Amino acid sequence: MPGPPAKDEPGEGDVYYVCQRCTNCCKWPGDVVLENGETEAIAKFLGMDLLEFTERYTRLRENRTGLSLIEKEGSHECIMLEGADCRIQAAKPKQCAGFPNTWKFPGWRKVCEAIPVPMSDLQEVQHQQRETHHSCYHANDDMNE
Ligand code: SF4
Ligand code: SF4
Repeated sequence: MPGPPAKDEPGEGDVYYVCQRCTNCCKWPGDVVLENGETEAIAKFLGMDLLEFTERYTRLRENRTGLSLIEKEGSHECIMLEGADCRIQAAKPKQCAGFPNTWKFPGWRKVCEAIPVPMSDLQEVQHQQRETHHSCYHANDDMNE
């Protein structure tokens, strides 16, 4: 059972991790899970036929319970990553939008450059990001309203 949070690691719920767009999580091995309705939404966003999108950009998840986006050939990089940008940013899966605030994978802190911000300062930080036109790459949509 985990002990109390360390001093420099506030308890869950006390902070919001602000994405720094390092793209490391888009290169992490594993599934990019497509939940119900997300496959259709992304195909529509890309202006593609659903069957064509599914055949070209998806595969079965490792546990075979649904679909995942595919990786680029010979790497773990998500097929939708273009340089430092997500090609489907406005329609990206919930799994992407939530990381690392709604879920995390083991060892995430070694690769993720997101900065923890106290919840009380979140609105000010988001305001500053909008002013500098830096959209939050992996923002939890609920927190960005
Ligand atoms: S869909 Fe976009 S945000 Fe999600 S892993 Fe792929 S490139 Fe990254
Ligand atoms: S969520 Fe973390 S790992 Fe992913 S792009 Fe943002 S800072 Fe990088």
